[in-house]
Amino acid sequence: MTSEVTALDTHLLVLKKRFAGRTATQLAELVSKLAKWQQEPCPLDELQFLDQLLHRLAGSSGTFGFQALGQEAGALAQLIKEELTSYDTANASPLAPQLLARLGQLPQWLITAAAPNTANLSLDLTGTTGDKTQLLVLDSALNDLADALVTYGFLVRRCEQLPTQCEQCWLPASIIITPAALLSQVVSWNKHQAQQQHHTPAPILCIGQDDSFQARYALAEQGADGLFMQPVKVPKLAKRIEQLKVEQQKPHASKVLLLDDDQELTEHYRLVLSHAGKNVRVMHEPEGLLTVLAEFRPDIVLLDVHMPPYSGVTLARMIRLEPEWLSLPIIYLSSEQDRDLQINALAQGADEFITKPISDEQLIRTVRTLCYRARQLSKLVSCDGLTGLLNHSHIKQALTHEYARVQRIGHPTSLAILDLDHFKQVNDNHGHGVGDLVIKALAQVLQQRLRTTDHLGRYGGEEFVVILPDCKLAQAELMFKDICYHFSQLSFIGSDATFNVTVSVGLAELNDFSNEEQALNAADMALYQQKSVGRDGVTCYQHSRLGRDANLAQDTSD
Ligand code: GH3
Ligand code: MG
Ligand code: MG
Repeated sequence: MTSEVTALDTHLLVLKKRFAGRTATQLAELVSKLAKWQQEPCPLDELQFLDQLLHRLAGSSGTFGFQALGQEAGALAQLIKEELTSYDTANASPLAPQLLARLGQLPQWLITAAAPNTANLSLDLTGTTGDKTQLLVLDSALNDLADALVTYGFLVRRCEQLPTQCEQCWLPASIIITPAALLSQVVSWNKHQAQQQHHTPAPILCIGQDDSFQARYALAEQGADGLFMQPVKVPKLAKRIEQLKVEQQKPHASKVLLLDDDQELTEHYRLVLSHAGKNVRVMHEPEGLLTVLAEFRPDIVLLDVHMPPYSGVTLARMIRLEPEWLSLPIIYLSSEQDRDLQINALAQGADEFITKPISDEQLIRTVRTLCYRARQLSKLVSCDGLTGLLNHSHIKQALTHEYARVQRIGHPTSLAILDLDHFKQVNDNHGHGVGDLVIKALAQVLQQRLRTTDHLGRYGGEEFVVILPDCKLAQAELMFKDICYHFSQLSFIGSDATFNVTVSVGLAELNDFSNEEQALNAADMALYQQKSVGRDGVTCYQHSRLGRDANLAQDTSD
């Protein structure tokens, strides 16, 4: 019986994969046409084809577990049907931007729906889309805001009434955005949903008009997680959504390396710390220490002081001989009670002392605090202050690591350099502060659209570098075209009017080059080619040009 069920499940999964693969290709084709349809009317035959595709998706997606995709396709099919009914070949006009934006989002419904239960399946598709936050925007009064959030790359589901009266709203949302007036009803619905579906209630952001103390107090009392006044400053709202998204993500387990020659004690510590969610590696002898450090890359090291014939104090000094481990927190484990001796030992290169015996609770609390601090510190060191992305030296470090991985594994990995277009004019016309907002907005769009496994860095002023492991050049090209399009749709508030900014992108595939600097130069050349052909878009470095660009290799020889 069990084996029959397993065979059936496997079979269904194969079908589901096939459906998802085919649909992903069709949707990618669709997305590639959207930029054109923005400028010129969609031809009748293409509109009919789109109508058929949407109908097929509306009818079949649910069966394969992609309910949300099916619902969105159904809703869009209605809109396309209206377009078809009123189609006039002689006087056709381009499709509405909002409709185009929703069509552009279709592939992401495929990813989001596939993610929770079919990890393998999502692997086939993740090359072109990122980890998405599902927003539920309530009430038709917030439709414009919903449109603006779509251009930031968020997956937006709209509910034009109260969710209790809406059939589609059984689907979980990551974050709810509601007019403040509806808050109390939304809170009780949200709690009820969470109980039914065994997850924590979604955070609720309110859009309000009353800025008084009493109104704010009432919203806090009812359980709002954020309040934004009309007219909403969308970049601020997007930033808050990003923060909530980060809080919702399960943090990677902190890594603890434990080196102690007492086998029973370490086993006990290991069990206690693993149970508390830490990823623990145990060593009883210090000989392989440097290899384990390089491979496991712990957040902190717990080090026994007495390990005859070795001394933990000397081992700490030895670790610090490597510049790479200068800031790695090292904590001594010792039964030494004498504070003077402890301080002397600390002076040799460790950061803290945990005095044995220590209760399980104390151990967990101490390790948790130290790991948290270590993470915060390493974030401070590696992140750019304005955007929160990796800074110049850390994105270069990530590039070196990824290049080494490509050499070992050979998986396709793309590299992108982005540069804002005519950015000097933005600063000149609207001031440096507004320029900074534009830089932040691009960082947010990238964070929203790319996967958590991609590396995003601010390379310099208004230049960004992105590394996309497991992503072929063609996939990266499609995705960055989409990013360019969405970014160009963002409206910024300038000194006297709103304005838009575009971005140019150069792409290269790491696998094509004999070192990472060459790949970086190639992506840079592609970027400048894009600048010379009119900016606002993507150019891929063609590997076949390598012979002609003899200077590429020489450029990097130093
Ligand atoms: P192009 O389309 O050719 O890239 O034109 P551009 O105007 O963007 O040209 P360029 O790259 O030479 O100009 C970049 C400008 O970006 C110059 C500098 O003042 C501005 N910039 C650099 N860093 C920052 C920053 O952190 N904030 C702001 N607001 N502006 C910055
Ligand atoms: Mg520049
Ligand atoms: Mg520029």
